[in-house]
Amino acid sequence: MTGNAIHAQDLAYSYGETNAVNGISFDVARGEIIGFLGPNGAGKTTTIKMLTGQLVPKSGKIEILGMDVVQSPNKVQEKIGVSFETTNLYEQMTAEENLKLFARLFSVKGFDANALLRRVGLDGRGKEQVKGYSKGMKQRLMVARSLIHKPDILFLDEPTEGLDPVSSEMIRSIVREETQRGATVFLTTHDMHEADVLSHKVAFINHGKIVALDTPHELKQQYGERILQAEVKTQDGQRVTKEILMDTADTSAQVQTLFDHEQVITVHTKEASLEDIFIQITGRGLVG
Ligand code: ATP
Repeated sequence: MTGNAIHAQDLAYSYGETNAVNGISFDVARGEIIGFLGPNGAGKTTTIKMLTGQLVPKSGKIEILGMDVVQSPNKVQEKIGVSFETTNLYEQMTAEENLKLFARLFSVKGFDANALLRRVGLDGRGKEQVKGYSKGMKQRLMVARSLIHKPDILFLDEPTEGLDPVSSEMIRSIVREETQRGATVFLTTHDMHEADVLSHKVAFINHGKIVALDTPHELKQQYGERILQAEVKTQDGQRVTKEILMDTADTSAQVQTLFDHEQVITVHTKEASLEDIFIQITGRGLVG
């Protein structure tokens, strides 16, 4: 038993011949946000399903809050909140009824559906049947439902996929608020910006394997190249961008040459994004 919120060791899962998850290990401390970042089919959803007791791993071990998920799935499920990409809401019922049903299942006393709907930007829409909701509204309702019993760990599978920027930011604020309350958050995404701004640490997953696991800052330090970008004015009045790789032996000589020979208008440094680093490590991008 570990003191971590999540302990996963040598996890593997296959669908027939397809090895979806191929021996992954990681720990998540209590109160931490971990972002699982990888392209479609990398194994993110399969991992989350094993962690939440919906799939039994082919091999490996999972402890959630010190409990073995395979042995005690129900005990674990009382302590976690889950929101999946594919919604499993009751479409014929209203949003409010969906939430109240879950509140009863979790024996939550004094549940305030309106307050929760307001938190995900659905205030005033609670009396509508879910079947009339847009994809984004259903997704926000799923997130709301995952929060009902104030879970110790939130598992969010692509929580902002397909949402407009305002709704996405609302979900990100909720994630931050939940960690302030003391919750741990496990989220999957293929949005590198989201992983960067939200996560305390990021796991890059590719073909069912974790290929890097660290804080966004450390990943950038370790793999990212810093580039100096200068906008210069050419003799015929055009503006062009020149790039110089920083932290090399002749960076300063190149900078000197630039300023001696060009009419420099602006200069700034560009840091590698998580997407750049993912491509560097795996040879493929995050989309597709
Ligand atoms: P996405 O971002 O598209 O949801 P993902 O990273 O969550 O992708 P998974 O859904 O875990 O990836 O899929 C991992 C691999 O397992 C893929 O090759 C996928 O085609 C396969 N797979 C997933 N679910 C099933 C299933 N029910 N039956 C057969 N193969 C599956």
